[in-house]
Parts: sequence; C-alpha cells; structure tokens
Amino acid sequence: MISVKTDEDIRLLRENALLVSKTLAEVGKSIRPGVTTLELDKIAETFIRDHGAEPGFKGYGGFPFTLCLSVNEIVVHGFASEYRLREGDILSVDCGTRYKGFYGDSAYTFPVGEVSEETKLLLRVTKESLYKGIEKAVSGNRIGDISYAVQEHVEKSGFSVVREMVGHGIGRRLHEGPEVPNYGRRGSGKKLEDGYVLCIEPMVNAGTKHVFMLEDGWSLSTADKRNSAHFELMVAVRRERPEILSTFEFIEQNSI
Ligand code: MG
Ligand code: MG
Repeated sequence: MISVKTDEDIRLLRENALLVSKTLAEVGKSIRPGVTTLELDKIAETFIRDHGAEPGFKGYGGFPFTLCLSVNEIVVHGFASEYRLREGDILSVDCGTRYKGFYGDSAYTFPVGEVSEETKLLLRVTKESLYKGIEKAVSGNRIGDISYAVQEHVEKSGFSVVREMVGHGIGRRLHEGPEVPNYGRRGSGKKLEDGYVLCIEPMVNAGTKHVFMLEDGWSLSTADKRNSAHFELMVAVRRERPEILSTFEFIEQNSI
C-alpha cells in the first residue's frame, strides 16, 4: 500500500518526526561508557509519553521495547538489556512514535566515547549516504535513484550495504509501501509522487554485506561480527526538492 499524503497528513507526520528527533537527542545526552541500554530505553519511553505520544515500536509485531538499540555488529532491531556500553562501542538508536494517528521513525548511530578512525569513517559515510539518497527524493525520480545514490556512496568508500532490510513509506502505519532498498539501479522501480513520505535508512557494514538473525528472532548481526551503522530520516517527496521532516540537529547541538 502506497499513499500520497495530504498537507494535513504531512503536518501530523512532521509533529511525529520532531518528537522522534528530540527523543533521539534526549537519549544521546545519556550515551556514555557505563550506561545500560535498558536505561536508555526507559529515558526514551518516559520522554515520549511525557509529550502525550506513545512509543511506536513497543508491541509492534511483538517488539518488546521503545527503542531498537543495536551495539557494534548488530545491524538493527537489537533489544535493550543490562549490557553496559563501553568506550569505543557504537550504538544505533532507532526510535518510533505514534501520535495523533500517525507514526514517526528515525535512527542515529552514536559513538560511545572515542572510537577508532575506521569506525568514525563508517559513521560519516553512512550518514552521508543517507543525504545522497534524500537528494533523489523528488517527484518524477524513481526509487532506484535513491537506492543507487546510497549504494554508490557506500561502496566507493569500501563498505557494504545490507540487503535484507530496507527503508519504507510511513503514515498511519509504521511500514507502508514503497520499499526503499539501499541498493539498486538508477531509473528502476516505482516512480516517486509528490506527497509520498519515506523513511530512508541506510544500514552499512564495515565488512561483508552478509547478516544473520540472533536467537531472539529480532536482532540482526553482521556475519563477520564487524561493525554496522544505521541512520534514518523521514522525508516528504516534493516537486522541487525533498522536504526532510525529521532532523539530527538536536543531537548534533548536544555534542558540540
Ligand atoms: Mg527506524
Ligand atoms: Mg524505518
């Protein structure tokens, strides 16, 4: 199911996007060596509920937490736990909200203390590839134009793109069509229309593109146990230029 959103729909999606963005920044303030991922999950849940919204992921398909918290080799969908973050880890925080009948969904990968130069590059390239994809979210382009832009940027930097998980449309449901793969051919796939709202979310591995599912049935790990990064923003497809609904600006203000 793919739907063109009205201006009113987009206004409500923007409210969700803003709350998700602020929640990620709130969580980010507490990311340091020694904190448990369960503590971070509680911070997010409290923040979302204090704003009159609900966690968008909790209970979705049976997912038990507010955040997906994916440490190091975990690509996405990691569970909150008693694990204490360590200096040099990276942590992907993926957050969803449900508010006024719509969903919000965005993700950011945080370094914990000082990380290696290779890991810094992985984070930078993954985030850059997200913006390369976003640039193509203009009506008349095709999904494959976004996919190609992401893949091209990632692979020329020597990293690899996960195939098994993809971006998606968002609206009154968390996952709507169209699927937005992070790999593909230019000019292929569904044509983008003004009013689509997409979650573009590159998942990028330092080593092999291959992944496997952990026994919890959710967490996805890189096959070679090397690091994986993940950044996600919500974007409305427009005629002239994409309109980015969520933002990393609150996170990056914190870190200055
Ligand atoms: Mg997400
Ligand atoms: Mg998503």
